[in-house]
Amino acid sequence: MLTAEERRALEEIRRRRRRAKYQAIGFVAVCIVGGIPMNGRPIAMIPIALIAILIASGFFYNASVIQLVRLFRARCPRCANRFFGRQRGSRYAFGRTLWASRCLNCGLSFDDLSTAEAAPAISKSEA
Ligand SMILES: [Zn+2]
Repeated sequence: MLTAEERRALEEIRRRRRRAKYQAIGFVAVCIVGGIPMNGRPIAMIPIALIAILIASGFFYNASVIQLVRLFRARCPRCANRFFGRQRGSRYAFGRTLWASRCLNCGLSFDDLSTAEAAPAISKSEA
């Protein structure tokens, strides 16, 4: 079972991860749009479009890097170790991934958010 504090912190980590993913996708999308040919040249070769593409891609790139740094530093609400990185001294000390859906140290999972939500509904129907 999740405590209210664990739930809040876990939702925040999940929200940040989702935001970082969309910002990275936004960066790639802006780069693809910049490469679309228009009148035989990429859109990015048009000066005003180049400025807009540079501003938009710079925004998405910086925002996603900031989000990723925050994610790597995020602490697990249960074990207080890094959520996406293994504890120092463990056999897999350099194992880090942002694709993990659970804490690499204690196993607290994003799936626990949905199962913990379902649990009170079951107990109410039984009562
Ligand atoms: Zn943990």
